[in-house]
Amino acid sequence: MEQSYQCGNCMYKFTPKSAEKMPKSCPYCNKPDTLEKVKSAQDYLEEVDSDMEQREERASL
Ligand SMILES: [Zn+2]
Repeated sequence: MEQSYQCGNCMYKFTPKSAEKMPKSCPYCNKPDTLEKVKSAQDYLEEVDSDMEQREERASL
């Protein structure tokens, strides 16, 4: 699964090739320790799914 990263310094967003691990510095501004994982659409879907499961559990009580 692809994981995108965004630089907190220059806001450059990129997705490394799957073989690569998380880069330590931004490929655009080259600043280290500024990269944050960007949530993918799949992550948001999974969050919604778990929310709905919790609601169903509450409704069945
Ligand atoms: Zn950057």
